[in-house]
Amino acid sequence: MNHFVITGAHVFDGENSLGTVDVEVADGKIANVGGERPANADLVDGSGATLLPGLIDAHTHTDEESLRQALAFGVTTEFDMLSMPQQMIPLRRKAAASNDLADVRSPSIGLTPKGGHPHQLRRNEGDPPWPTATRPQEVAAFVEARVSEGADYLKVLVEDGRLFGSDTLPRLAPELVAATVRESHRRGKMVLAHAMTVETAGQVVDAGVDGLTHLFFDRPPTAELVEKIAAANAFVIPTLTVIASITGEPAGRRLAEDRRVYPKLTPEWRENLSGAMATSPREHFDYALETLSALKKAGVDLLAGTDAAHLGAPGMAHGASLHDELRLLTTAGFTPTEALRAATSVPAQRFGLTDRGRIKPGLRADLVLVTGDPTVTIGDTLSIQRVWRNGS
Ligand SMILES: [Zn+2]
Repeated sequence: MNHFVITGAHVFDGENSLGTVDVEVADGKIANVGGERPANADLVDGSGATLLPGLIDAHTHTDEESLRQALAFGVTTEFDMLSMPQQMIPLRRKAAASNDLADVRSPSIGLTPKGGHPHQLRRNEGDPPWPTATRPQEVAAFVEARVSEGADYLKVLVEDGRLFGSDTLPRLAPELVAATVRESHRRGKMVLAHAMTVETAGQVVDAGVDGLTHLFFDRPPTAELVEKIAAANAFVIPTLTVIASITGEPAGRRLAEDRRVYPKLTPEWRENLSGAMATSPREHFDYALETLSALKKAGVDLLAGTDAAHLGAPGMAHGASLHDELRLLTTAGFTPTEALRAATSVPAQRFGLTDRGRIKPGLRADLVLVTGDPTVTIGDTLSIQRVWRNGS
C-alpha cells in the first residue's frame, strides 16, 4: 500500500497553521503529523508549498464528470443539493469507491411544489416526474422515500422564481417545511432550505431547518433575522458564486481566464463559467455581502459552496468555482484562514463527517498541495501541485 511523507510544506490543518511539519500517509489515512520520520516511506518534497485538507464544496448539483473535474481542483468532497435519485444512487456508490472522483453526499430530490423551482431551470435535463407532497400528511411518505434512496439530508425549496427572472412559480407552504423538519429529525436527518429572500429565510428558520443553502439577498438583512439564525444555530452556505451570476457580476468570466483554470476545463465548461444568469439587479450582490458580514459578526457558521451545476447553469464550474468562492468570502471580510476553514473543518463538522476536513492522524488522506501560502494569499489555492484522495 502507499506509504509516504510530505516534507517541508507549511501545513494548514483545517483550523490553524501548524508551521512546517511532516505529514505521514499510510494506507489511505493520515498516519502522523509532525512525528518522527519513518525510514521506509517515500518522500514528497513540499518546500515552498502549503498542504491543505481536501476542499469541500457544500453546494453543488453534480454528476460523474463534474466529480472528476472537482477533484482535479482539489475538491475532494461535494455536497450535492438536489439531484435525480435514478442518477445519484449509483453515483454515490461509485464515488465512494473511486479515487479519481470527488466523494459526494446528496439529499436526492428536494421538496418543491409541482412545477416549482428549479423545474424552470431543468427543462432540458430530461427529468422523470418529481415526487412531491402537497399536504402536511403526505410529507412523512416523501421523507421516507428519500431516506430509503440513501439521502444524507433533506432539502426543501421555497422560491417563487422572481430572482431567476420568473414570477409565476408555485411556492412551498411553510407548514410543508415544518412537516419536513419534523419527519426528517425523527429519522436523524438534517433539513437544508433554499430561501433567497429575507421573508422566506425567516419562514424556514422559524420552521426549524438546520441550514440555508444560500444567502438571502433581495434586500439588506434585518437584525431580527440575523439574530434568529444565530439563536437557532443554523448554518448558512453563502454561495456568492451563484449570486454573482444571478446579479450579473463577471466573477466567472475572470476565473475562466485564469491560466491555472482554463487548461483543466473543456471548452464547454469554460464557456459555461464565463457566462452569467443576470436575472436580478446588480445591487442585490451588495446586499448579499452585507448579509454575509452581519451573519459572520453574529457568529453563524458559514460554509463555502458554489451551486456549480450542469452545463447551461452559467457562471460556475465544478472545482474551479470553489476557489473563487474563497476569494469572494475574503472580499466580504473573511481572513484567508477563515475562508479556508469554511471549505474544510466547518462543513465536515456541520455535516457530521468526522473522517475528513482536518489534517489529523486517523483521518482520510484527502489532501491538496499548493504552491505559496493561501493563509496569506487566498488565490494561492489555485496553484495546485498535487491532490490526494484516500492517499492516492
Ligand atoms: Zn443549488
